[in-house]
Amino acid sequence: MDTQDTEKTKNTRGTKAAMTNSRMYQLGSEPSAIRALYAYGLARKAEIGEDRVFDFSLGNPNIPAPAAVNQAIADLLEMPSGAVHGYTPGQGAPGVRRAVAGSLNRRFGMEAAAENIYMTVGAAASLTISLAALAEPGDEFIVVTPAFPEYRVWVEQAGGTCIEVAARAGDFQLDNAAIGAALTDKTRGIIINSPNNPTGAVYPKEALAGLARALAAHQEKCGRTVTIISDEPYREIVYGKTEVPFIPALYDNTIVCYSYSKSLSLPGERIGYIYVCERMPDAQEVYTAVCGAGRALGFVCAPSLFQHVIERCVDEVPDIAAYAENRAALTAGLSRLGYEFVEPEGAFYLWVRALEPDAEAFAERAKSHELLLVPSTSFGCEGWVRIGYCVGRQTIEGAMPAFEALMGEYRAGGA
Ligand code: PLP
Repeated sequence: MDTQDTEKTKNTRGTKAAMTNSRMYQLGSEPSAIRALYAYGLARKAEIGEDRVFDFSLGNPNIPAPAAVNQAIADLLEMPSGAVHGYTPGQGAPGVRRAVAGSLNRRFGMEAAAENIYMTVGAAASLTISLAALAEPGDEFIVVTPAFPEYRVWVEQAGGTCIEVAARAGDFQLDNAAIGAALTDKTRGIIINSPNNPTGAVYPKEALAGLARALAAHQEKCGRTVTIISDEPYREIVYGKTEVPFIPALYDNTIVCYSYSKSLSLPGERIGYIYVCERMPDAQEVYTAVCGAGRALGFVCAPSLFQHVIERCVDEVPDIAAYAENRAALTAGLSRLGYEFVEPEGAFYLWVRALEPDAEAFAERAKSHELLLVPSTSFGCEGWVRIGYCVGRQTIEGAMPAFEALMGEYRAGGA
């Protein structure tokens, strides 16, 4: 579209009934702040050189996909085309759904079957399908802030209302008392994301058991079942001895939204799944609604080649040594310079306190040092920035003088 076309579109929208859905138009006109920063980074790199821009904006894994994944792709390409590239059933091929269920049973002691698994194009689709499957107009979904920005878009698209509840100040763990206070007779679900984007926090078993008790007490009191939607694309990315409790083992009314984007470094291939916990009293009805939502949204038959890859690689785990080294280098470097941050237990993000209350102003100031940091306003709170450390080690090392200069500028009392 050239400039003239853009002007024409603007004029059309300004003078007569628009020919598009206004909400969609608005969403399309305002790309996410993270994407906008990433686009800025690309342009800036072209202008001044790759190695002079320190781009920590995007959660694009930089470690390679496991060798077994590449081998599976190569093997599959030797097979007859129709067997690999043909349509599968809408909810996914039975073989991969059985393989995923079997893996969950082995790893987490569940009794899942293929009938509990729906293959998707990544966590984004897992979430949009699950929300659409659950929501009646006006239903409330709690999200814990800071939160992945697209949650609000997806909840609202499903006809729901997004209720933000702040994580605990300081460590960004769950605040079960605040969540309990936010429950109403309209609450349909709560999105839990652990390991967390953007804070790197992992919720321990006691906190999740406390949440389960609060939801059960609410159900007892007002007869309303609240579903946990567990968004867990970072489940396999944890450091040291940190364990990620499996929520369906603690709370029956859980839908898991999984993705291989981060765990197998396959974000562009778009593959993941929904797991409707078989212990849910209405599991069959919910799974049927998931199939219906997939149909209504056009999210049927996830990429066939990658369904087959997952069937063969279902128990593959990532080698996160490079993330662990980045995390160590970044946290050591920033604490030496006097920055405050949340020690990340999982994912590949560092949540750093901005050097002024206005996170956007701070991120702008960082930009003038070629540091691309995502302001916390994108995630629904003030005063912090997110550093994505799924980058080459040289980016972290190269960025340290810029972080030092930024700190120096604030210590000196402003630019
Ligand atoms: N949920 C969270 C917390 C994420 O960080 C992301 C991607 O960054 C998604 C969902 C979407 O994942 P996918 O790329 O698999 O759709």
